[in-house]
Amino acid sequence: VSLPQPACYIGGGWQPAANTFSVRNPADGTIVGQAADAGPEDARAAIAAATAAFPAWADESTVQRAALLRRLSQELLDRLDPIARTIVAEQGKPLGQALFEVRYATQWLDWFAEEGRRAYGRVVPSPVPGKHVHVLRQPIGVAVAITPWNFPLAMIARKLAPAMAAGCTMVVKPAEQTPLSAVRLFEAIDAAQFPPGVLNLITAASPEAIAPALLEDDRVAKITFTGSTEVGKILVRLSADRLQRVSLELGGQAPFIVFDDADMDAAVSGLLASKFQIAGQSCLCANRIYVQTTVEEEFTERVLRAVSALKVGNGAAHGTDIGPLIDERALAKVSAHVADARSHGGRVLIGGERAAGGDFDRGWFFVPTVVAGCTDDMLCAQEETFGPVVPLFAFEEEDEVVARANSSRYGLAAYVYTKDLGRSLRVSRRLQYGIVGVNDPTPATPVGPFGGFKESGLGREGGTEGLDEFLESKLVSFIA
Ligand code: NAP
Repeated sequence: VSLPQPACYIGGGWQPAANTFSVRNPADGTIVGQAADAGPEDARAAIAAATAAFPAWADESTVQRAALLRRLSQELLDRLDPIARTIVAEQGKPLGQALFEVRYATQWLDWFAEEGRRAYGRVVPSPVPGKHVHVLRQPIGVAVAITPWNFPLAMIARKLAPAMAAGCTMVVKPAEQTPLSAVRLFEAIDAAQFPPGVLNLITAASPEAIAPALLEDDRVAKITFTGSTEVGKILVRLSADRLQRVSLELGGQAPFIVFDDADMDAAVSGLLASKFQIAGQSCLCANRIYVQTTVEEEFTERVLRAVSALKVGNGAAHGTDIGPLIDERALAKVSAHVADARSHGGRVLIGGERAAGGDFDRGWFFVPTVVAGCTDDMLCAQEETFGPVVPLFAFEEEDEVVARANSSRYGLAAYVYTKDLGRSLRVSRRLQYGIVGVNDPTPATPVGPFGGFKESGLGREGGTEGLDEFLESKLVSFIA
């Protein structure tokens, strides 16, 4: 696949870069392309373009905005293969998962193409005779989107789609590890012919150089971010001076609870689907696996059998289940979590180390790992591991496991496996998580609200709630 030229997309055109940086494949360290290393001037130019485009875009008909979103969705499908291969090259995930990501991104565009037409206001009966109370829903203004590397296309689509539908304009800043997928997306945006300035792209080798120019600007009304809880908190502090509206999709630390009445086949395959997507580097990944003691032995045996069949390798190779971790830092964190579990008495049943030898030595691969006998004082019980590690925790009863699952500062996704209807209703209500999958390892969907409780975020993407994040409510009271 030929990779795009290093450039930012500002005001409807590609701006060649004065400086560039290399993008590497985490599977083998090879340079897969160059991206523009934008500076503060570029960031300000992008904000200026988005500001200039805002009034006309806010007034554009919802029918036209919907048509452009649908056209973009089609442009992405027309480029399905090259975009997926770009994702594999810079992110490392297996090709099948990258193809899924492109299709998943289009689902968000399609949903918000529809939803934008339902930004209803209200006419409220007035308590005062002669007054008329109207509530308008209006776009907030210029939004800055900052996105992570694990879903380099879909995380942008989830922000761009509701922003466009609501009538906001946007400047996108993707992660430094995965700027090329964003460039691919903007090629599709260019082909779909969005009006100049409505969508702009800034890529950079490090956030420090451009973050102040992007965020500390009176013209920016909205910050929408997906990434770590630590950086999310920095953005909240930064936004305080201007009271910019902030939406945050942050870290998770998902409990995955298997009761003894669960369908064991479904629980094992569900665990694999949830845990090993992107080598365990998804915010929704099962992080703490709680298994009722009565089925601990059976479940552990089945999980071991399934995990030992997983194939680790280059995401571009046929049959790969698990690609590399994104970088050396990620590998160090996963290794530290496994070492910590060992030192606290955890038993590594399979894996437990970096994949070594041959081609593996050039990338950041970790062998899929199962650790039994885990306890709540371990790092893997308290932090997001973000790697292909299954820590197994035993529990006795429902109240106990709900309390342990809720004893986290995070609250993004939780999973429950049971065939008991009453239990599934009770437990799903009691879990302090924004997303609960009951016998469902992949609950995320554009038609429902996606987001976290506690330190997993603020606001929601998707559903009717997703549009609200880009709208302000205005009360207009008439005396007439
Ligand atoms: P990250 O380090 O927070 O980076 C995310 C984005 O923020 C990148 O574009 C990064 O730019 C930028 N950034 C970093 N420091 C910044 C600063 N001081 N000011 C402005 N921007 C800054 O997170 P990550 O490692 O890429 O992503 C993994 C995290 O994302 C995990 O915690 C995961 O759970 C979370 N996540 C959450 C969701 C969700 O929907 N809740 C979805 C996916 C991922 P650079 O790349 O240039 O550093």
